[in-house]
Amino acid sequence: MCPSPAVKRTTLLGTWPARRWGAAGCLFLVTVVAATERPVFDVHIHYSHDVWDAIPPEKAVAKLRAAGITRALVSSSSDEGTQRLYRAAPELVIPALRPYRRRDELETWMRDHTVIPYLEERLARFRYTAIGEFHVEGQEADLPVVRQVVQLARDHDLLLYAHADADAVERLFAQDPDARILWAHAGFEPASTVVEMLDTYFNLWADLSFRREIFINGRFLPPWRELLVGHSNRFMIGVDTYTPQRWLEIRETLDWYHALLAALPGGAAERIRFRNAQRVIAEPFDAAGDRRIELVEHPTMPAS
Ligand SMILES: [Zn+2]
Repeated sequence: MCPSPAVKRTTLLGTWPARRWGAAGCLFLVTVVAATERPVFDVHIHYSHDVWDAIPPEKAVAKLRAAGITRALVSSSSDEGTQRLYRAAPELVIPALRPYRRRDELETWMRDHTVIPYLEERLARFRYTAIGEFHVEGQEADLPVVRQVVQLARDHDLLLYAHADADAVERLFAQDPDARILWAHAGFEPASTVVEMLDTYFNLWADLSFRREIFINGRFLPPWRELLVGHSNRFMIGVDTYTPQRWLEIRETLDWYHALLAALPGGAAERIRFRNAQRVIAEPFDAAGDRRIELVEHPTMPAS
């Protein structure tokens, strides 16, 4: 027997021959129901060059939707990946501008002066809500190219999306105290550092991607539960599809997130799963309107 929510959904989806599906059909329906009832705002999706052929944009969007992801902050190497995904699902994808043309530029970009003209050209053509995700450690954050990125974010009113240690985040804020920073992986920093940073910088939000060590076998690593509950308006979640393989692990990664969130009070879980990203990432993007999108890149239907 299917559990009752699945039966209800079967009725809603009328034409599906659920009774003939057996156990596999039930499992699928339960997953669909769970995904629908727990929409996810994923702030860490990459759609980079090495996945485009294996998973074309429409398939990629279908994968996100099937996992219950209804909005996603997407950044890619190169940005063409983000634009392809955005064109396939503008209501789901929120573009962030990554300073990499290929994935292997993550260790060299901060000393590469061709990065700035590349970003300027993209910023003139397309609409974004953030610059990043970019990788920067410690003193690298004070290099001229990184400083120019901070300035670009300030000029265009964009979030900085940094995969950075706490030292680098402090250097970014020193350059622009009004910056808004999304801190990928919470910097892989320990809870004590994360709480100190969040209490010092009110324009800092952190995503929990690749922090599996904070929640293992249904138990939080102390004091992460207290941190997530006490600062539940500052955390977000993301799968981080940084390799093609990760696109195959979306469902399993989200299962871990849902288990972690289920161990938190409902309000905190909802903020971390969706609401914080909606407020900080989606609403400014949606409010900005379409004025910077170049029409050539978005063919319109002929008038009837
Ligand atoms: Zn990433």
